[in-house]
Amino acid sequence: MALPDSFASSIGWNFDNSYRRLPSEAFSPAIPQKVPAPECVIFNSSLAEEMGLHFDKTASEKIALLFSGNEIPHGAEPIAQAYAGHQFGGFNMLGDGRAILLGEHLDQSGKRWDIQLKGAGRTPYSRRGDGKAALGPMLREYLISEAMRALGIPTTRSLAVVRTGERIERATALPGAILTRVAQSHIRVGTFEFFAAREDRVALQKLTDYTIARHYPPLVESSNRYPLFLKEVIIRQAELIAQWMLVGFVHGVMNTDNISISGETIDYGPCAFIDLYDPATVFSSIDHQGRYAYGNQARMAFWNLSRFAETLIPLLGETTEEGIAVAEEQLRRFSSAFENRWLCGMRQKLGIANEEKEDRDLFQELLRLMNEQHLDYTETFRLLSRPETQNHPTFQRSDFLLWKKKWEVRLSRQSSSQTDSSKSMRRHNPVVIPRNHLLENSLQEASEKNDLRAFHRLLEAVTTPYEKRWEGSEFSRPSSEDQSGYQTFCGT
Ligand code: AMP
Ligand code: MG
Repeated sequence: MALPDSFASSIGWNFDNSYRRLPSEAFSPAIPQKVPAPECVIFNSSLAEEMGLHFDKTASEKIALLFSGNEIPHGAEPIAQAYAGHQFGGFNMLGDGRAILLGEHLDQSGKRWDIQLKGAGRTPYSRRGDGKAALGPMLREYLISEAMRALGIPTTRSLAVVRTGERIERATALPGAILTRVAQSHIRVGTFEFFAAREDRVALQKLTDYTIARHYPPLVESSNRYPLFLKEVIIRQAELIAQWMLVGFVHGVMNTDNISISGETIDYGPCAFIDLYDPATVFSSIDHQGRYAYGNQARMAFWNLSRFAETLIPLLGETTEEGIAVAEEQLRRFSSAFENRWLCGMRQKLGIANEEKEDRDLFQELLRLMNEQHLDYTETFRLLSRPETQNHPTFQRSDFLLWKKKWEVRLSRQSSSQTDSSKSMRRHNPVVIPRNHLLENSLQEASEKNDLRAFHRLLEAVTTPYEKRWEGSEFSRPSSEDQSGYQTFCGT
């Protein structure tokens, strides 16, 4: 049902649904299933403002109708997108099984925003799933995606979570909910794999040209645009993973259908942040082999990008051999792009302003010490950021004192003062990350008792992660209990 124009214009919807102009196999029209009792749980008004949408005079009931899919905004033309994906290494044809794209909203500056309802009911791609989502996992995505944003990491955003009034069947019956996810686009590596698998070169080229125009517009006019597009995607992905590593983020399900071509972090299912530094950390209950372990993420990103490059081979050269050669040449850029971004981030975390070749060794040695001494990753960097905590008992072991000496000598070989260094460190080392025990507790309160207070407190902390006011608070510390068995689930 479309809303009257007067309502649409007061909110400022401005849809231009360009994805629907792609070959028709790329999507299926899909209408969100009506829900019995929509109720707004959380609404991101600052994001709405950023998108040029004005909800300040809109009643919460109206917001709930819109972001449950019970009312379709003026100009939206909902679809489910088709895609494929390598899931834990195995190839499958997939698609939005529980997400419906309302459309693309253009803000006043011309920026395009995909607006998607996650958990809006069955689509032609639902397979055996019910198309629904539970409140806990949707609030989890809301909080972690907004935390990533506050940490300065490219990510999809969360505009709203609405309860549906239904209970959905999982291991137990859970309150149903819909998350409104906002993204530069939902084009994935898996979207390209979908077209490549159909061996329709014309459609593949259309998708590629469309994606270049949407995400890499300076390349549109280039005669060499396909290799350059591949290069840019590789670099953005490498830099994204480096940023994950720097804050201790474990995505948990880096299947190719969960890798965005725009370079945003997408699909917050079983993700979580490490506390103790350990590259082998795996949280996801289904990741038995540690395929997507914290320390394996760069390797898996490279694997995913290799699958992406393969889809482009027909466009990369006159012959397959030529296409493969171009793909390989571009893929070789990954490791230095990753390494450079990571080194740059580690220098910032340790207050180092200039580059030296041996920096990498200094960083690796610190990480090794953290690993051996079971130190909390976030807290260690934060303690090092303040002169008054640099002599914390944590750092009194002889090997740590030795490392600190090396670090101090390293700092003395640059022009910036100790004060500037510490200041810069505090800008790059968050006090707050979404701590697993706090997040779980807040989701439980929300889900089981309909009490959102803990969730809101945590949200405030994780969206202002560098603020001094959190130092020494519960948000800054790891759990006092052993978290070694902590597990996450794929939110389905
Ligand atoms: P994910 O691991 O969350 O990226 O999901 C993998 C695929 O399963 C995607 O195509 C989803 O749309 C689909 N899917 C996940 N949960 C459901 C569900 N409850 N109903 C239908 N499809 C689902
Ligand atoms: Mg997914």
